[in-house]
Amino acid sequence: MESPERESPGPGSRRPYGPTRSEIVEGIATELAAAGVESARLEAERLVSGILGITRGELATAGGERVNPDEALGVARAVSRRLDGEPLQHVEGSVDFRTLVLVSDGRALIPRPETEQLVDVISEWVARDGPFERVLEIGVGSAAIALSLLSEGLAVRALGVDVSGEALAQAAENAERVGVPGLELRSCGPEIWPDLAGESPFDLVVSNPPYVASADVPHLDVEVRLHEPRVALDGGPDGLEVVRAVLAGVPAALAPGGRVLLEIGSDQGARVARLLAGESLLEVPRIRTDLAGRDRFVTARRAS
Ligand code: GLN
Repeated sequence: MESPERESPGPGSRRPYGPTRSEIVEGIATELAAAGVESARLEAERLVSGILGITRGELATAGGERVNPDEALGVARAVSRRLDGEPLQHVEGSVDFRTLVLVSDGRALIPRPETEQLVDVISEWVARDGPFERVLEIGVGSAAIALSLLSEGLAVRALGVDVSGEALAQAAENAERVGVPGLELRSCGPEIWPDLAGESPFDLVVSNPPYVASADVPHLDVEVRLHEPRVALDGGPDGLEVVRAVLAGVPAALAPGGRVLLEIGSDQGARVARLLAGESLLEVPRIRTDLAGRDRFVTARRAS
């Protein structure tokens, strides 16, 4: 029997290798959407342009170009990490926070848009009263807050402390990357507060502490639950263990007239207001909302 004729493209008739950039983006967008990723198309564009080392604009204007096998492999690896539930920021290796681009991996919490608004609150105060000379950030994590304060001229010096050595290592990398002076990093014990003997008082204490109730942690999105540090999320049985510990130490750490600002969970406003009401050295306690209108921040002042 005669074997069926095989089509073997000879030289000249050979098609260029591989799919185009646009075809790859389409395919990935479909895969991500099927896996339940919300902004699938945007993420596909970001993943592909990131691997190719081009901007999303360049990807759009040169979508007809073909990707080479190395690039295709790089894209496939990135997509499979994303499909396994890794946050986009970890796959990209970076996260935008206000004016900064910070390292993003599993060592510290990925800074959220709400925390960008926390810096806005500080910036309102600074517009009225001038920059803070000396800031203490408890649970500094990636150092997104402290580095924003320093690089935006909202603070002159900051001491960032964390229980996690991994977070402190990431914070140090971010400080190096941002290249702004004035941040000192220090490890604090499990008691949350560092030894402040011999330190002069602070004029601002800021914190985005872990505030998720332990029982809620298993119900967080897979990206958060499996790929972000539990120590940065789990606030104990009622979610307020660290909030209480931070507030308890604030009066002693603050200079008279100094301020405290904490990020809290959207269901914790009333409870945190009650905690503050019992703290006689702290005045004008206020719960502030985020852009979605949810309770998100608590502020107070030390009596002067
Ligand atoms: N907002 C975060 C989340 O639930 C929690 C951050 C925190 O505990 N500080 O994704």
